[in-house]
Amino acid sequence: MVSGYLFDAYPKNDKMVIWIKAENGKTIRLEDSWTHSIYVAADGKEDLKSLAQNEAIKHYAKNSEFVLRYEKITDHDMRRVLKLDLADSQKAIALGNAIEGINYDAFRLYNVDVLPPQAYFYEHDLFPLAKCKVTESKGSLKWQVDDDLQATDYEVPDFKIIHLDAKHRQEARLPRFTDKLDSISIKFANQDIEIRNESEAEALDNLVREIAVLDPDFVFTADGDESVFPYLIERSMINQMQLVLSRESMPVESQKGGITYFSYGKVMYRPSTIMLHGRVHFDTHNSFIFDHSSLHGLYELARLCRMPLHTTSRATIGRCLSSMQFYCAFKKKLLVPWKPVNTEKWKSYHELFVADRGGLIFEPVVGVHENVGEFDFAALYPSIMRKRNVSGETVNCDCCPGSKNIVKELGYHICERKRGIVSEALELPLDKRAKYKKLKKMFPKGLKFQTYETRQGALKWIGVVSFGYLGHANSKFGLIDSHIVVCAIDREVLLLARNVAEDRGFNNLHGIVDSLWVQRMGASKEEYANLKEPIEQATGYDISFEGIYKWIAFLPSKNNPLVPVVNRYFGCFEDGNIIKDRGIETRRHDTPALFSRFQMEALQIMAKGNNIKEVKALMPKVWDLYQKYKQMLQEGRVALVDLIFTKNLSKDSAQYSVNTAETSAIYQLMEEGKMMQGGQTLQYVITDYYRKNSRKRTTPVDLINDKTIYDSRRYIELLAETCNSVTVPFGCKLKPNDGEAMQLV
Ligand SMILES: [Zn+2]
Repeated sequence: MVSGYLFDAYPKNDKMVIWIKAENGKTIRLEDSWTHSIYVAADGKEDLKSLAQNEAIKHYAKNSEFVLRYEKITDHDMRRVLKLDLADSQKAIALGNAIEGINYDAFRLYNVDVLPPQAYFYEHDLFPLAKCKVTESKGSLKWQVDDDLQATDYEVPDFKIIHLDAKHRQEARLPRFTDKLDSISIKFANQDIEIRNESEAEALDNLVREIAVLDPDFVFTADGDESVFPYLIERSMINQMQLVLSRESMPVESQKGGITYFSYGKVMYRPSTIMLHGRVHFDTHNSFIFDHSSLHGLYELARLCRMPLHTTSRATIGRCLSSMQFYCAFKKKLLVPWKPVNTEKWKSYHELFVADRGGLIFEPVVGVHENVGEFDFAALYPSIMRKRNVSGETVNCDCCPGSKNIVKELGYHICERKRGIVSEALELPLDKRAKYKKLKKMFPKGLKFQTYETRQGALKWIGVVSFGYLGHANSKFGLIDSHIVVCAIDREVLLLARNVAEDRGFNNLHGIVDSLWVQRMGASKEEYANLKEPIEQATGYDISFEGIYKWIAFLPSKNNPLVPVVNRYFGCFEDGNIIKDRGIETRRHDTPALFSRFQMEALQIMAKGNNIKEVKALMPKVWDLYQKYKQMLQEGRVALVDLIFTKNLSKDSAQYSVNTAETSAIYQLMEEGKMMQGGQTLQYVITDYYRKNSRKRTTPVDLINDKTIYDSRRYIELLAETCNSVTVPFGCKLKPNDGEAMQLV
């Protein structure tokens, strides 16, 4: 018997390999003769029988049997489906494709893209870092878990952590895989090891030896997925060596290139990943894990989602959420469809109109306002989903037409008999987050506080993303209908809250998703705070009083000053002069640091004003600040690192043709052999903006050198725009490149 913590799991041929971190710090490798299974449904039972006998299928499946499962989330009865146990867990997609190749229309496929380690965890009720005892008998493992997902004080073993990097002997302006290896650095605890040998083969050999001796659990890299490891693999191949860095005695494998995909209407890029079987590789460029302290967030997520640490560190929150739903489905004997199904019912014009309004209900009153109170509902969307049982199968269910859980605005009803998968999967993360927030208050500082804070922070995103995921194309158990239902209930809740405020003489200025801004001239802080309780009573959801703004500006659309836009505002709270802002330059990740800093400083000057009149009187000071920044730009004193624009590319390099500032940077990278893919981030500085025919309008960050000079004229224009974003609401506007003083507008 082995006892310790479940550390890593991955499939290998017809086995599942498990690594246990024992309490004495040793790592133990175990094997379980287990493979992943996929399921096939068809209308004709004969079709399934002959499928099971098909030679091509037998090649992939070592075993087949008929079992009872719920095929669709809305089904009330189980049906007989064909279960195929794979000969090799990693061939699920190949088997899926083979079945579709036999008859695409006849068969419906399930659980094909559930990753084998996850399926193994669901089946055995396991999760990463679970404290457990394992007994081996005849090639099979028996598990006893002495741990609980509800636990907030679970133990985590001490892991040995190293940081790995490789330096090139660079032959061109950008590092290439054809460069010879210069040196390898390994950092751990307080030690640095540098491997530098005349012969590459020797250096790589030393690396393999050092890793075997150090035997780390976690290997951190900066861009190990796309750069450090692929480069080292390439160098090993050239030297005809095998690069064994995993605990499993097999060489590190290069994966196929990264992929570009769409998510929430945005082009995203996912790099390929490098696995170190039996160790965990964290790539800080490809993960939310950026340092050791963020590891506690990862542990918590990996446990709740039942996904290996390697996978969780690179997963989107949507994938984490899916895994929790898959586990619920597994427990209910419900199958997970391979390809998304769309069973939306036809909608009338009225329904579409009502449904399309999303979370917006009260457009902001554009302009600056004084003495405004803000109220925020806590995690409103996920709370609605949980409380009202919103899930793909519960909206307009056919088992309870007389349900009292009704969405008035839409005339929809929600199931009262079955717990929806989406709402059920949210219970654990929502509950645990609430627990950590409470614990945080009990330990207001120190290591415990940090741990709870990191864990609740990681769980927060599950709630935030859960709503968007309901209507997302990759979501297996949410439907657009349930998305619409959440929006409608949200509007109901905000309306109720507004009514409470209005009954007490407050004006509503703006309301969106889960926030409400109300105003009553002369109302005291206490009078504002007193709104909390009646709002909670009327709505049934927790709300917090965020405070009173001395002044707040709701901004119009950039293109049309008459059109209000939601979520573009800035204001200053009474207490402590704290600035809160959304949708302006300081907030945006694509804005050069200089502009963010300038705007923040300008707002800090304005924060000294207690009302609109006082802020207006401070405008000359903002003007002085602007002059100071302008002069720095003019004199070339600003560091290039403060002037970098960051853009998320919407397509691949080769597809860009129009000459813009952005494409000029892309072309230069292409000339140096670096192709960009849609979804990747491009960073550049503006160097000669107005030379329309020049390819040197901008310079990509990778190609910056001593001779690079920024275009001060263009940066000054943009500085003025940044200034105007915050001063125009107070009646002051700068004209770029001219005017000795600010003008009134
Ligand atoms: Zn029902």
